[in-house]
Amino acid sequence: MGKATTTRTKARTGAAAGPLAGRHALVTGGNRGIGAAIADRLASLGAGLTLLARDKASLDKVAAKIASEHGGQIATAAADVTDRTALEHAFESARQANGEIAILVNNAGAATSAPFKRTDIELWQNMVDVNLTSVFHCTSLALPAMVEARYGRIVNVASTAGLTGYAYVTAYCAAKHGVVGLTRALALEVARTGVTVNAVCPGYTETDMTARTVANIIAKTGCSEDEARAQLTALSPQGRLIQPVEVASAVAWLALDEQASITGQTIAVAGGEIL
Ligand code: NDP
Repeated sequence: MGKATTTRTKARTGAAAGPLAGRHALVTGGNRGIGAAIADRLASLGAGLTLLARDKASLDKVAAKIASEHGGQIATAAADVTDRTALEHAFESARQANGEIAILVNNAGAATSAPFKRTDIELWQNMVDVNLTSVFHCTSLALPAMVEARYGRIVNVASTAGLTGYAYVTAYCAAKHGVVGLTRALALEVARTGVTVNAVCPGYTETDMTARTVANIIAKTGCSEDEARAQLTALSPQGRLIQPVEVASAVAWLALDEQASITGQTIAVAGGEIL
């Protein structure tokens, strides 16, 4: 713990073009699922990138794929978002690789379910640390330079669980509601600095996290995979899971220079589940 390792993947092409050219975006949880889709979308718009997560091998693999498709400067930093010291090292090496961070996407997260009576303090603390305190850490490491530059975009990937309740995930829901509260309060605090702070709130999205939820339902109830997936898609008026690229598209839109007046918002990407 306390250590972060960083690698930089060379760009295929020269200077990147696009509306985010010259902007450095750091995406936590950028090695798979929603985070990898966000990284890909930001790179396609010309942003330089740092991808941060714990698993170095998958970080480097995703970075190489994005570099080969979009070019641009892509660094990776292996760190645990619950480890402040490791994050300090990771953010410093990200700055050295790609300059000050202009766009921070707090996406890393985890969901463990349990009935409240079996939610012990360890599970509770882990959900708060990974999903909420991580956002505090990363934001506090990136914000001072954004305020100094009078420009910044902070996008927190919360969840519909940050806007409503679901049974058997009290700790996760509490943490994600906390992310929404942090988003709203900080947006007001920095409203005159050129920094915007918003949250994107996906419904059940087709990633490893949802695959684990499906496996969990099957293990607990003995139902089939189709039945387990139907329980999740039934929550959506559109009757389907969200695709990672749909979440990525909303995040990238919020990251654009022209969204300067959109701050303190929670955007549900959930097929109409939250109105
Ligand atoms: P995945 O489980 O597919 O990916 C989770 C990501 O977070 C991985 O990149 C993982 O990397 C990283 N991560 C987890 N724990 C840590 C840690 N302690 N330190 C650093 N990185 C960590 O999940 P999704 O892509 O589905 O989820 C991304 C975000 O979207 C999460 O915040 C999640 O809560 C939220 N979300 C997801 C929904 C869904 O249905 N999938 C719905 C609503 C919100 P590594 O393991 O290498 O560290």
